[in-house]
Amino acid sequence: MRAAFVAAAALACLFLAPSSPVDAQRLPGTVRPEHYTLALTPYLKAATFSGVECIYVTLSEPATSIALNSAEIDFKSVTVTSGGKQQAATVSLDKDKEQATFTVPAEIPAGKATLAIQFTGILNNELRGFYLSKTARRNYAVTQFEPTDARRAFPSFDEPAFKATYDVSLTIDAADTAISNSPIASDTPGPGDGKHTLKFAPTPKMSTYLVALLVGDFKCSSGEQDGVAIRVCATPDKVALTTYGVDVAKDVLHYYNTYFGIPYPLKKLDLIGLPDFEAGAMENFGAITYRETLLLIDPKTASVGSKKQVASVIAHEMAHQWFGDLVTMKWWDNLWLNEGFATWMSNKPLAALHPEWNMDQSVIGELDGTLNLDAQPTTRAIRAKANTPDEINQMFDGIAYGKASDVLLTVENYLGEETFRKGVHAYLAAHEYSNATAEDFWGAQTATSNKPVDKIMESLVAQPGEPILTFGAPSDGKVTVAQKRFFLSPSIQSGPAQNWTLPVCFKTAAKTQDCQVLTPADTSLKVPADSLFFANAGGKGYYRSAYSPTQYAALVSKVETDLAPAERINVVGDEWAQVRANKATVGDFLALVTALKADSNADVVKASLGGVNAIAERVAATPQERAGVAAWIRATYGPQYAKFSPPSPADSANTRELRAQFFGVLGYYGKDPAVLSQAREIAEKYIADPASVDATLGQTALFIAARNGDAALFGKLQKVFETSNNPEIQETALRLLAEFEDPALEQRALEYAVSSKVRNQDAAIQLAISLQIDGTRDRAWQFIKSNWDKVQAQFTTAMGGMVVGSTSGFCSDDARDDVQKFFAEHKVQASDIALKHAIERIDGCVELRKLQGPNFRQWLTTQPKS
Ligand SMILES: [Zn+2]
Repeated sequence: MRAAFVAAAALACLFLAPSSPVDAQRLPGTVRPEHYTLALTPYLKAATFSGVECIYVTLSEPATSIALNSAEIDFKSVTVTSGGKQQAATVSLDKDKEQATFTVPAEIPAGKATLAIQFTGILNNELRGFYLSKTARRNYAVTQFEPTDARRAFPSFDEPAFKATYDVSLTIDAADTAISNSPIASDTPGPGDGKHTLKFAPTPKMSTYLVALLVGDFKCSSGEQDGVAIRVCATPDKVALTTYGVDVAKDVLHYYNTYFGIPYPLKKLDLIGLPDFEAGAMENFGAITYRETLLLIDPKTASVGSKKQVASVIAHEMAHQWFGDLVTMKWWDNLWLNEGFATWMSNKPLAALHPEWNMDQSVIGELDGTLNLDAQPTTRAIRAKANTPDEINQMFDGIAYGKASDVLLTVENYLGEETFRKGVHAYLAAHEYSNATAEDFWGAQTATSNKPVDKIMESLVAQPGEPILTFGAPSDGKVTVAQKRFFLSPSIQSGPAQNWTLPVCFKTAAKTQDCQVLTPADTSLKVPADSLFFANAGGKGYYRSAYSPTQYAALVSKVETDLAPAERINVVGDEWAQVRANKATVGDFLALVTALKADSNADVVKASLGGVNAIAERVAATPQERAGVAAWIRATYGPQYAKFSPPSPADSANTRELRAQFFGVLGYYGKDPAVLSQAREIAEKYIADPASVDATLGQTALFIAARNGDAALFGKLQKVFETSNNPEIQETALRLLAEFEDPALEQRALEYAVSSKVRNQDAAIQLAISLQIDGTRDRAWQFIKSNWDKVQAQFTTAMGGMVVGSTSGFCSDDARDDVQKFFAEHKVQASDIALKHAIERIDGCVELRKLQGPNFRQWLTTQPKS
């Protein structure tokens, strides 16, 4: 799955609290399903469905009752057949456990049995289970089962290790079609007037959460790659936006077939954009579903960022077809085997197919963000307990995706690409159509490489947090090194001592790397001679580095000449972390940033600007202080922006992004009058005709214009949102409404967000954006509190947590107490971890301002008066 996208800060760091009794909600495991025949008839107008199901099971011991999962299902009849004997079963329901228990009078012997079930259910509006997705024209019936909602569509053994095969058939309106995991095997009229029944080919063995059932009038573009039929589908009005996805999917399929050495396991692959969809995308086996904005774009008008994002989500979900679908984690505690792997893997085809996107550098930028997340006290280990649906839902976080992906990057970099690939192949081949654990993965890597991958991975996967490695001055080919757990907050330095076993790769004079494994017992490492001392070659190691002042000064003096872009990102990230930890000052950081101001790489500049933005928003507190930062930004980046010619179709992706970044910082934080007026001009042109403006600059201009915008611009954007047929443009327009800082317009935007004009999938994102912007935060929070009933009515399972998490932008003790009190009195589903993290971030800001405020004011006095 891919989480819905909002600014990175909102995807909160989640910590797993001690939970209810272990296994309280797990099925006993004495009854295992082998095969399901599932015939469903959805009624799209009535929002209900009926189902007839046979589950072929094997009992490991005799029983008079069988428990399975079920929620919001109405049972009509249940019979159990075994040994030629058929018995009617009584059904008892446990709503809390989301289980049904079938009880029969005579004992069912061990061995095979068949459960025949007739039932009805509801097509809900909650974007989970079997649910309704709506357009102005009609209803669609679609599914989202991960992690625990297949049980809302059909009674099932709804845990990932209960793999079975499926024969699915759907009886639907004659004019409609349907998509499921397998190709359509037959299409017959009836039963009943105006209906037809689509029977799908049998599936391979798979987990319940990967079943997909999609009903409506979808239209598709198609292609073929390596003998696999590929389609990208959408509602009929958006079929023109499906071709980009087909091209990406074809290339990615071929890349993965080659990389994994195991061909894509099914005959067809469909990618379907759905009008209502809570997550970003979902990797159902052979039938991947997407939020429309993450699949349907017009390559002629889309920004570089949108193209990258769509390609990245396609590559992520397709990686799951092997990692997740073919081989599945045994239980949700190892969700990282799915998500970390798909996140790591998705960068590979993109890097190969689009070298101009500089994927290896954006990966290091993301790694840096994850290190910050993991340096908070409420982080969690990659592998962590999760038993209830609420706990499982909260596992889909920056640790399962980001940190797990980074750990794989660290290990791959140490082993070498080809050795690591062989280990991946061995793991997949050993567990295909089955389930696996963390030990299975690192066991395979250890066996293929003959290196201590098991020790390295266990130390990174089983314990929370990250190490900081403090290096001495290298001499005689050696350097002393000490490791300890790193926290951003200097007030948290205690806790049980932690140690890691991890590869440390030094940069060599030949600009390659020399890797050694640092174990808990090591106090020094060998270093390559005659080179600039840099202890994280390629920036791919999962740790922070601290150097002696002399070493650090040497590094900064050669940062532009001797370090690769990914390594420069690493240096910037480590230095900002040292500021947060109060080991360096704002002035030290800005000196480094100044040394990098003319960097020609967009990802390096982005890394620098991350810290600059934090200084502008979270360190500077008064209008005068902010004016001081703004003057520095204009003086530093104005000349850089001035070097760019106007956008041209010949510009590289890097040039487009770099130009937009300078423009953005000058507008947002520099408040440069010329940029502000240009932004308005570009925004007007972009709204009138998206093709007339470079989309990458156009998008940035729109956001700056909206922050400073008036009612006329607000009205135009609202009209674009309500009338555009292009999800990218439509979604951008909606998000922009949440950016207006004018109080009256902000009020309009907030009321709009909770109105029926905005889909539930987007409402929480709108509120989250308003909470994240300095100029709108306070009023947005007041609005949310005083309109709580309306606000809460918009929340789906995961979206409430996004709003809770977005209160992290506050920066005072009073605001923290208020947030804490409000959510103690107004509980939001699956959000307790998001709340803890938000509180932690508010405390972090208060501390940063207190510790770095004096340094910052000292730095201001050294700046020329503007
Ligand atoms: Zn995923």
